Amino acid sequence: MGKTTLEAFQCDRCGHAWLPRLKIDGLPTICPKCKSAYWNKPRRIDLAKQEVKPRVSAKKQRKRYEH
Ligand SMILES: [Zn+2]
Repeated sequence: MGKTTLEAFQCDRCGHAWLPRLKIDGLPTICPKCKSAYWNKPRRIDLAKQEVKPRVSAKKQRKRYEH
């Protein structure tokens, strides 16, 4: 099985992480949680952000750590 990398956006204001919608055109305007327009740039969720709880299993995150 190939390696899959999920990308998600993360808000730098509230730490909320969300996966992009199916048909997203460009970057989201605001953070869906705190509605901040300054949620910053998209960021991969493979970072060691413990406060973030993306819809990715902990196993996957651990895999990236080991890699
Ligand atoms: Zn936010």
